[in-house]
Amino acid sequence: MSFKTIIEPFRIKSVEPISMTTEKQRKKLLSQANNNLFLLDAEHVIIDLLTDSGTSAMSAEQWAGIMRGDESYAGAKSWKRMKAVISDLTTYDNVIPTHQGRAGENILYSMLGGKGKVFISNTHFDTTRANIEYSGATAIDCVIKEGKSPEVIHPFKGNMDVELLEKNIVKYGAKNIGAVILTVTNNSGGGQPVSMENAKAVQKVCKKHKVRYFLDCCRIAENAYFIGEREEGYANKDYKQIAQEMFSLADGAVMSAKKDGLVNMGGFIALKDKKLADSCTNTLIIKEGFVTYGGLSGRDMEAIAIGLVEVFDRDYLNYRIKSTTYLGEKLSELGVAVILPIGGHAVYVDAKSFYNHIPVEQFPGQALACDLYLKGGIRACEIGSVMFGKYEKSGKLIPASMELVRLAIPRRVYTQSHIDYVIEVFEQLIKEKEKSKGFEITCEPEFLRHFTAHFKRVD
Ligand SMILES: *Cc1c(COP(=O)(O)O)cnc(C)c1O
Repeated sequence: MSFKTIIEPFRIKSVEPISMTTEKQRKKLLSQANNNLFLLDAEHVIIDLLTDSGTSAMSAEQWAGIMRGDESYAGAKSWKRMKAVISDLTTYDNVIPTHQGRAGENILYSMLGGKGKVFISNTHFDTTRANIEYSGATAIDCVIKEGKSPEVIHPFKGNMDVELLEKNIVKYGAKNIGAVILTVTNNSGGGQPVSMENAKAVQKVCKKHKVRYFLDCCRIAENAYFIGEREEGYANKDYKQIAQEMFSLADGAVMSAKKDGLVNMGGFIALKDKKLADSCTNTLIIKEGFVTYGGLSGRDMEAIAIGLVEVFDRDYLNYRIKSTTYLGEKLSELGVAVILPIGGHAVYVDAKSFYNHIPVEQFPGQALACDLYLKGGIRACEIGSVMFGKYEKSGKLIPASMELVRLAIPRRVYTQSHIDYVIEVFEQLIKEKEKSKGFEITCEPEFLRHFTAHFKRVD
């Protein structure tokens, strides 16, 4: 017997109150924040879907682990526990603890990068690209063409275009390739999964040309779930075993544990090659900390060790992905254009289509994100021309390729009724669609403007 209602496979032991606000109060609060949702106080948000990073709820076991955390400077028990869990999962012997994902990227890619080096990925995540480019190297994205069109249905839209990968390796010369990085799931591409078949094909090309092959494995458990659901031969496999198989194909991995580690802070590098790991360790000691804690406290390491086991639980993953899909499919049924199929950690709404009367120069994504807040106290993230738009010399906006609003779902934080509430807020917004107006930017910094820019409604 299977039921259509998705229930959370956990009971709630500790609660954090949400402070409810009225539409009138939110109007004032948003205006005080200059219509930038990053400038709002979190306590004034009802449902916070800004990011799934570092926003997970920890389990009773993890909180118990926090108490057990061994804070010894060297050789702590918590380090040994975390290392054992990561070595078992990744199949790699060498583990380097970092305070979050980007610290690991910085250590590994600054060593393998530098001027003249090239990195190839399905899609480099922002911080991955930034660390590579900061070293002087070049980052090239080679996702399959289906991964670039929001409406095309494909079971593994995060896959690498293997032919294009090989072409690029030949073009730049294998000795100039810093590494090939497979991002699972493909965050920037909408949390779309990568198939095992694709991971194997990438391995084959990397082996043939003798180039290094790493996983950016922030959402490896969610990716394993999709493989179990969609790829032939994996239906009855354990999700951890699927992940282990994928790890075994690569030479190493970098993880931000703030995603599938189910913790609020943490990360690691794990590598097959001891020599490479030893070089990373030297940098680790200068930049993060001693080898048995890196950028982490003992309690963090304990929580990661437990989170990395819990995340592969069948019932958890089933609830996690089904709940995200439920939100996306319900919105789609209401006629809201979303990126399909729905990915693992977020639903991406096409704001250009939702507010098709607002020109891209007036940021339809910003308008939708602000309206979600005004109407329902929901905080989402614009991923469009506010985040990625550039200017011509004349000052004219060069828009981003898409105007999206991302509803990222924190892990184990919100219940089905919270999700139903989000759907209801969309129902209301649909009714008043034509009345919404766009925005202009009144002040902006030179870099990463979406974090601090100020906006004004166009009359
Ligand atoms: C979050 C993320 C990172 C960076 O990790 P931080 O912990 O935020 O530094 C790298 N790659 C991917 C795919 C991510 O989602």
